[in-house]
Amino acid sequence: MRVAVFSTRSWDREFLDEANASFGHELVYFESRLGPETAALADGFPAVCVFVNDQLDAPVLERLHAGGTRLIALRCAGFNNVDLRRAEQLGLMVVRVPAYSPHAVAEHTVALMLSLDRHIHKAWQRVREGNFDLKGLLGFDLHGKTVGIVGTGRIGTCVARILKGFGCRLLATDIVQSEECLAMGVEYAPLEQLMAKSRIVTLHCPLTPQTHHLINADTLAMARPGFMLVNTSRGAVVDTRAAIDALKSGRLGALGMDVYEQEADLFFEDLSDQVIQDDLFERLLTFPNVLVTGHQGFFTEEALEAIARTTLDNIRCFEVGGNCPNAVPPMPVPAGEGRS
Ligand code: NAD
Repeated sequence: MRVAVFSTRSWDREFLDEANASFGHELVYFESRLGPETAALADGFPAVCVFVNDQLDAPVLERLHAGGTRLIALRCAGFNNVDLRRAEQLGLMVVRVPAYSPHAVAEHTVALMLSLDRHIHKAWQRVREGNFDLKGLLGFDLHGKTVGIVGTGRIGTCVARILKGFGCRLLATDIVQSEECLAMGVEYAPLEQLMAKSRIVTLHCPLTPQTHHLINADTLAMARPGFMLVNTSRGAVVDTRAAIDALKSGRLGALGMDVYEQEADLFFEDLSDQVIQDDLFERLLTFPNVLVTGHQGFFTEEALEAIARTTLDNIRCFEVGGNCPNAVPPMPVPAGEGRS
């Protein structure tokens, strides 16, 4: 099938081309992000393949549909950037990669925790400058500490498994309790209790209307003073302004972020020769106890292989008119459609 692949970088091409040897799709790569200005590039392509910061709101979906597109293949798990209702009305099927490597994101989450706790980012800089003073590098043992996990799905459960190994006490909040987490001794509690008791809070829920700004001025006020917050889920789960206020007051003692509310304007681009216009983001970078990575939690060889394979298989599924288990929401393929 002819596929317009948006937001492609060298690694996307490398892993997709390798996996495509077994599928034989015709992949046409575009570096640009999908949005109103670039949607016309997909004219005549029955499938478009997109990533986390591509814009798939109603006008873009309508433009794609008018150009003949019938399949949106997300090469990620989250689908918060797609207007699913409009997609369904237009008869556009949306497929995703629900699980590729929960280990990749979970391990990156723990890397952020450990770096912030032991000030690795500061130590790296200091030692390079010949400064071996330990002042300001004091950490705490993870062993015996209470960690609150918001969302115990695939990634949250993986984080729980790793932290269990460190000897942490684990609290969790979720709308569904995980059998595996319960079996390893995770205690479920409402968010208020989790915030009040946890030395570290880590976010692993999807971005939905219910979780938008779940961490806000009110929930931050419930937190244990000086707690650490790690967000590798989606940026808008945290109200950035409220987080900045909490950092200034000391309520929030450390913040690790792999995602950011307005990341679409920044992440995945080399902006090192430009003046960043996002004052909120720039303010975050001024704090010594904030560590930001640019949405790289998924970025391991294993995850990229799995993403490429599943994405191309999702497209194959649509092409042959089969039932794609990775459709969101599950939608039957209309008869006669989906064939290139
Ligand atoms: P998952 O669907 O397996 O788990 C999500 C969990 O969150 C589920 O158990 C669900 O019940 C729970 N949840 C839903 N609403 C909730 C709420 N209001 N409060 C508490 N819990 C709630 O998803 P996953 O594979 O574990 O991924 C989690 C999130 O991580 C994704 O939605 C995505 O946004 C993010 N993610 C980030 C990266 C990255 O590179 N940083 C990569 C992959 C996924």
